[in-house]
Amino acid sequence: MSNLRDRHAKILATIGPASSSFEMLDKLFIAGADAFRLNFSHGDYATHKTNIENIRKLEEKHGKPITILQDLQGPKIRLGAFKDQAKHDLEEGDFFVIDDNPEEGDKNRCNLPHPEILDILTKGDKVYINDGIVRMNVVEKQGRKVTCKVYEGGTVSSRKGVNLPGVDLPISSVTEKDWQDLEFGLENGVDWVAVSFVQKEQDILDVKAKVDGKAAVLAKIEMPNAVKRIENIIDASDAIMVARGDLGVECPIEDVPSIQKKIIRKCRQEGKPVIVATQMLESMIENASPTRAEVSDVANATFEGADALMLSAESAAGKFPEKAVQTMHNVICRVEKSSAWYDLIHAREVSTMPNTGDAITHAAAETAYALKAKVIVTFTEYGSTALRMSRQRPRRHIIAVTPHLHTARRINLAWGLNCQIKPNPTSQESLSDLALSAVKDAKLEQVDAPIVLTAGLPFGVAGTTNMIRVI
Ligand code: PGA
Ligand code: MN
Repeated sequence: MSNLRDRHAKILATIGPASSSFEMLDKLFIAGADAFRLNFSHGDYATHKTNIENIRKLEEKHGKPITILQDLQGPKIRLGAFKDQAKHDLEEGDFFVIDDNPEEGDKNRCNLPHPEILDILTKGDKVYINDGIVRMNVVEKQGRKVTCKVYEGGTVSSRKGVNLPGVDLPISSVTEKDWQDLEFGLENGVDWVAVSFVQKEQDILDVKAKVDGKAAVLAKIEMPNAVKRIENIIDASDAIMVARGDLGVECPIEDVPSIQKKIIRKCRQEGKPVIVATQMLESMIENASPTRAEVSDVANATFEGADALMLSAESAAGKFPEKAVQTMHNVICRVEKSSAWYDLIHAREVSTMPNTGDAITHAAAETAYALKAKVIVTFTEYGSTALRMSRQRPRRHIIAVTPHLHTARRINLAWGLNCQIKPNPTSQESLSDLALSAVKDAKLEQVDAPIVLTAGLPFGVAGTTNMIRVI
């Protein structure tokens, strides 16, 4: 059996209590997980460290690079505490005050332990509590005492999350806790760092300055401000996540599908990996099979040509983590075999070819198809040529060959890339030999067809891709 996954779109599985053991991680990898997310909103360092060690052991066991993504919590705003840990039902038309009074809250008021936010709220702003269930408008303001009127009722209680959709928040996307967590992540060799509640490109640039090339940096798009500045944020980031959970609270929920399409298209144009996240198989937290709508959601993201699809609680805290990964794998595979798939992912394709690397990878994809080649082998130093090859979305297997393990782990998140570690070629002959040995290692069923390869001369220098060969 071939050693390559029979699939181009990747699966990113979140680890949590339901999956924090070597045995379960192994099952999830075998079922189809290509990358794992460590969620730093939960869990302690000891658990994260064990998970990282176990994933690296899995790499050795299966002889394949696996991607580890560290997801930073970001500035999640929360209410203060209520007296006696009470829950209060707020109804439409009720008034509710948020203020800087440190006393515990009651039915009429509660502390918001973020004075800088109380300062900038103004009349008419929206204040949501508890994942957008309770919705209120600011109707009056006296200093840091902000009176709101409820227009959609629900329950409030201690430490519930607060969203302020559309408000420009005077806070950085990276908190003290995030900086500490980041240091831990880099020390332990994570491949990607995800920044939550990004508002502007500077949020990403700040993290990049600290990361200093030790990992790639991804922006989670979950705020309307980020959607407005999406071009600049894509430019500043190495990849993007469409974080539909918070996005669906911060924006009108009916806007989320169009935002998803727009972001995927822009990322694909730029050749930056894009992940679709949250509630993809939500009902599988409790049930062994998904709803029809969830299957359609996974299929739709695959048709859109997303690089990776994410599982959250389904693999982190659900009853059926392995089944959830299997289901996602099966749906993606079936979509990629359907006759509509290739036409759809190439519909409205933008064929700008701004440099030699793009022209070469485009030609390689066309050549592979015309010659019925089974596989394209792309030699890449730090991954940029491999990402260009991926950007072409060819309907052939791509094997990305790099001398650097950290490059392989990083680009393994991208659409269609099967990564292998091999030394750089030293001559034209060794180039063919290396390509053939990469194909041999992939254990393809039928290798009598031609192989298309791309490489750069001189060998071993990044950004030189300038040749295409058929062997
Ligand atoms: P989260 O991010 O799971 O860390 O909240 C994803 C999302 O908001 O969709
Ligand atoms: Mn989120």
